[in-house]
Amino acid sequence: MRATKAERSAELRQYRRDLGLCPGCGGDLPGGQKYCEGCRATATGYRRADRAKKGYSGKFQSGNRVRVPRWGGQDATGDKGVDAHLAATLARLPPPECVGVVQGNARSGASASSMPHSGVRAYAVAFPGFGVLMVRETEMIRVEKGG
Ligand SMILES: [Zn+2]
Repeated sequence: MRATKAERSAELRQYRRDLGLCPGCGGDLPGGQKYCEGCRATATGYRRADRAKKGYSGKFQSGNRVRVPRWGGQDATGDKGVDAHLAATLARLPPPECVGVVQGNARSGASASSMPHSGVRAYAVAFPGFGVLMVRETEMIRVEKGG
């Protein structure tokens, strides 16, 4: 019976390892390292590409449960009309104990352009009863499962 491709490459890697060579390419191995520089760089590139493919770009990912302890935005201005408007806006936002679910992130969603001046990643987060809101990364904290 012929060995499968995976079995053959595993054998080859072991053979190279036994000879003290890089198991990835059979090249010379700097002392104490498992793979040569070239193979390590390639592996790092694969990992980066994989992360980019999954749309990972920040602290949070789709499906994460989050809370917003305090909504950012503006502090009181001293102008009664403006402050009343800000207070009314804040009152319509989910309270600190409300748990939302991250829908997308700054890279994969259309969200990056929503806050062009902040320079902070923002995520689309669905809050039950409040709909989907854009939340800045710095405003959110992660809620562990069951918490
Ligand atoms: Zn190598």
